[in-house]
Amino acid sequence: MIVMKFGGSSLAGAERIRNVGGIVKAVLKRKPVLVLSALGDTTDHLLEAAGAALKKGFVSIEKIEEFHLKAIADLDLGAGLQKEVKALFWELGSLLTGISLTRELTGRTRDCLVSFGERMSTRIAAAYLRSIKIKAQAVDAWDAGFLSDSAYGQAELRGETWIRVSAFVRTLIAEGTLPVITGFIAKDENGNITTLGRGGSDLSATVIAAACKAEEVQIWKDVDGILTADPRLVSDARPVDRVTYDEAAELAYFGAQVLHPRAMQPCMKTGTPVLVKNSYNPAAPGTRIEAEPDKNSPRIRAVTSKKNVTLVDIVSTRMLGQPGFLAQVFSEFAKNGVSIDMIATSEVSVSLTLDAGNDLGPVRRELSRYAGVDVKTEKAIVTIVGNVRHSSEILHEAFGICEKMRIQVQMVSQGASKVNISFIVNDNEADDLVRELHRFFFSGPGEGEKKAVRSGSSRRGGKRPPAEEPPAGAAKQGKQG
Ligand code: ASP
Ligand code: MG
Repeated sequence: MIVMKFGGSSLAGAERIRNVGGIVKAVLKRKPVLVLSALGDTTDHLLEAAGAALKKGFVSIEKIEEFHLKAIADLDLGAGLQKEVKALFWELGSLLTGISLTRELTGRTRDCLVSFGERMSTRIAAAYLRSIKIKAQAVDAWDAGFLSDSAYGQAELRGETWIRVSAFVRTLIAEGTLPVITGFIAKDENGNITTLGRGGSDLSATVIAAACKAEEVQIWKDVDGILTADPRLVSDARPVDRVTYDEAAELAYFGAQVLHPRAMQPCMKTGTPVLVKNSYNPAAPGTRIEAEPDKNSPRIRAVTSKKNVTLVDIVSTRMLGQPGFLAQVFSEFAKNGVSIDMIATSEVSVSLTLDAGNDLGPVRRELSRYAGVDVKTEKAIVTIVGNVRHSSEILHEAFGICEKMRIQVQMVSQGASKVNISFIVNDNEADDLVRELHRFFFSGPGEGEKKAVRSGSSRRGGKRPPAEEPPAGAAKQGKQG
């Protein structure tokens, strides 16, 4: 059995859905289970509609409806399905009217509202698969066993989900049915609809795959896999053929946004391989994510960045030899619901980073009672994901580039996962730095893609011979979905 997840861009209209049908048909022998996102940018449009209902009190969802009905008509899926989808739109319209009348939009209502995207896409895709003679059945995540807590917008799946999902999916597969399951959504114990965070259908897919001990989970997107950099920033970013779960998790978090940040967790537990593929270019090999690092792993996998970060410097001589000082500092952040990303400490100071947009007022007041607190905004984290066995030379080279560009590195952290080296620079320097690092490490003197890591190899920055060949096939650019 394999799990195949298709993102919104792989499902944006009749043509794309036909394409998905072709991809699925070719692997029927492997007993696929489908997990789908909403069609195209439907989730964004639904969120916009909710915002409009709240503010202006009037909203039209005609465009979203037309888009779905057109796909049904173009795929020739008949009146029954059209009626079913129209009924969902009627419900959706009522919900929006409710929001506009009460001028209130709770997390619970928002989750219920966006769930319509996936509920419609699965019904349409399953009907299309049936029309090409595949015995497919649309399934809402809760009917497949997805049970979550009630943290709307960012729900966590409950442990029981695994057993329930595995039992449900196996039964359908055993009777020769291809399940087409809604990604992204679940229900809490009270039967309210929840969502797993934006891009959450990746997580739905990896949970199903891990729970059912699937042979593999495929995440179908509109780029050739995980890329060496954000293609919007670096025009010759190219796909990485293999990464470990740890590396993929780092990349998901630090701006690469190829995968939902938590999506690796289930597969890490079971060792289920994840394959990231491009539905616009199915022949491309994609990126394989698995536990074992590749023997010939290159020094650098990717360069990414996360912008709009706040840097907090906390200095206190009380910290000297004081057990529990750091715990106290972190608990101030925790109490105020502020999540910390990167940390560096010395004997008397702690530097840490957070997402901008956190209200730091209360934390700052508390900390100021016993420490000097300096908050700097408009920073960025630039991360090099690679083989930390080579960290000294990578740091040497990366800092050399910063120096040449007159960029001052303001904080450094080498992740405990041993796969990333991150540093803080000013927000407005990050894009140029990423481009320059990418150029150096992927097509310049520091090119490491084809230079296998050999234990004991001792290369020195700058002395490396230039790349023998131009970079392999440039990645397809596009929006990820
Ligand atoms: N449709 C949801 C979103 O756009 C979930 C997903 O695509 O994974 O965030
Ligand atoms: Mg989407």
